[in-house]
Amino acid sequence: MDTMLAARMYGKQDIRIEQVPIPEINDNEILIKVKSAAICGTDLRMYMNGYKDISENNPRILGHEFAGTITKVGKNINKYQEGMTVAVAPNMGCGVCEFCSSGKSHLCQDFFQAPGINIDGAFAEYVRIPEPAVRQGNVIVLDERVSTEEAALNEPLSCVYNAFQKVGVFPGDNVLIIGAGPIGIMHAKLAKMAGAANVMINDLSKERLDICKKIDNSFIGVHSDELEDIIMKVTKGKGLDVCITANPAPITQKIALGLMAMEGRVNFFGGLPKDKENVSLNTNLIHYKELVITGSTKASVAMFSKTLQFIAEGLIDVKSLVSNRYELKNIHEAIESSKNATGLKNVISFI
Ligand SMILES: [Zn+2]
Ligand SMILES: [Zn+2]
Repeated sequence: MDTMLAARMYGKQDIRIEQVPIPEINDNEILIKVKSAAICGTDLRMYMNGYKDISENNPRILGHEFAGTITKVGKNINKYQEGMTVAVAPNMGCGVCEFCSSGKSHLCQDFFQAPGINIDGAFAEYVRIPEPAVRQGNVIVLDERVSTEEAALNEPLSCVYNAFQKVGVFPGDNVLIIGAGPIGIMHAKLAKMAGAANVMINDLSKERLDICKKIDNSFIGVHSDELEDIIMKVTKGKGLDVCITANPAPITQKIALGLMAMEGRVNFFGGLPKDKENVSLNTNLIHYKELVITGSTKASVAMFSKTLQFIAEGLIDVKSLVSNRYELKNIHEAIESSKNATGLKNVISFI
């Protein structure tokens, strides 16, 4: 049996590099040779805290942000061919419920499958793409202007774009992103692309704010100590048109409401830890300022395609978010680097 190198998680903080059989595919599935796979906050949380079903007897290959080349195509499939370079939108739905049939399979409540979450993912030389993903159009052939590395980073970008659409960012808006991680910077980049007048990014870490500045000099880095002062100065006392909380700290949801202008729009992008999800908010701020509070999670296949197009057309640059590249056998170093938050995106590179 042919084998491949894979990083398999056996439990909490237990990932082992092993030789495992190359996945078999049926007539309705595709096999992809992975070229680039990025490490995400979700991978890190799964690794640090453990994840349901993953155990010594049931290991799993993580990695849901990836792109590569098709090496095998099931014989019932005619839309894809061997040799095509593709990205894969990871979230699959049942395909028939009202969400799936309206193109929102990421909201499907009847079925959920995603490589690297509840089936084997892309921290391996090969990954099997199941039938629902093939049928639902999750496998997207890359424009020649998009590298596999950029395509891997497109997954979080598509989720950011979901929030962007929900909250609405328009030319001239004053925007604040709370959280200067890779996700926060992606939000800032999209806001800039949409013509926001001022894009402010708030974080507790001065180092992170410096990184933002290096990525785009027009971003206004705001340290938490001076948050209100700077926002009132920049917006001439009006407050924010848009605020996106791109972090897991409950307090930032509360802070956001206090900083909004009349008719401001808020997106709670970052989910909160399970025991901290009840947040006390001054709802009179929502009432008297006529605020719009939105949430967003994951992304649809259409959003995933759209942001790939943004990258292809040069509307948004994601390359600058890659801090380090690692070989699969050094994935522990990559995880460590993600954990220390010393850089932005860490990518497992097979090229
Ligand atoms: Zn992710
Ligand atoms: Zn469904």
